[in-house]
Amino acid sequence: MIFDLHTHSDASDGSLTPTELVSLAAENNVNVLSITDHDTVAAYDRISDGYCSSVALIPGIELSTTWSGRGIHIVGLNIDPASIELRRGIERQQSARHVRAQTIAKRLTKLGIDNPFDAVLANANGAGIGRPHFARHLVDIGVVKDVATAFRKYLGPGKPGDIKSGWGSLDETVSWILCAGGTAVLAHPAKYKFTTSKLRLLLDDFVTAGGRALEVVSGPQDPGVTRRMANLARDFGLAASSGSDFHHPGLTWSAPGRFAELPADIGKVWDSW
Ligand code: AMP
Ligand code: MN
Ligand code: MN
Ligand code: MN
Repeated sequence: MIFDLHTHSDASDGSLTPTELVSLAAENNVNVLSITDHDTVAAYDRISDGYCSSVALIPGIELSTTWSGRGIHIVGLNIDPASIELRRGIERQQSARHVRAQTIAKRLTKLGIDNPFDAVLANANGAGIGRPHFARHLVDIGVVKDVATAFRKYLGPGKPGDIKSGWGSLDETVSWILCAGGTAVLAHPAKYKFTTSKLRLLLDDFVTAGGRALEVVSGPQDPGVTRRMANLARDFGLAASSGSDFHHPGLTWSAPGRFAELPADIGKVWDSW
């Protein structure tokens, strides 16, 4: 069974519609899929009740938060997308996203780039604006050659577009997931490039907040990373999750379902579903 419990549609910064994403997952033999868009469950509002696929869909979300001055992502799985508490949290996150986008636009303008806000808003096409929408705009207007360079020069950690304020706290984001009946999963732990001791501090706070799972496998990754993350999950009594973090077809980002299996000897986040 392939459980891809972390993917993005065009309801946030992915490029496929929710139903296109489900179809691609089916082609890739994914059995269980979660669409976990950044700070929104809009994808689930767009999949009609009558929609039928071989893929079982588990409602999910990826919430942005800040911990120790760094942007951290918490995936919520098996949530009730209609939960009032979660919807309130999402509204807060979306207004934080909008204010943040205005700040990023101002900062880029100060660096000599024509105010990109309107173009980026159009580019996002109704989705909450994220840094990838800025990155694509910077590529479109020829300021950088590709999205990776846009992040390295303008949007990545420590760069002018890296605005962290405004998100709900770790406790708040986890509590919205719990109120929606879901399981809180710390997303792509290796991506933060923390030392093991710093990651352990984050996991302490995450468990205290009510977090119950760790994304032990996130897309194609080194087997050594998988072992390290599985050991951390065991130490902290966390279940393991797996996902591709798919955004776009045909790019270097991993495709739906294309990642290694979780170690056999670890509890899985779906065991309790
Ligand atoms: P935001 O939600 O606005 O904070 O943007 C975060 C998103 O930017 C991530 O979910 C990725 O999709 C994307 N991203 C982050 N770093 C990079 C990078 N170095 N290259 C390409 N995309 C990135
Ligand atoms: Mn993304
Ligand atoms: Mn993420
Ligand atoms: Mn993601």
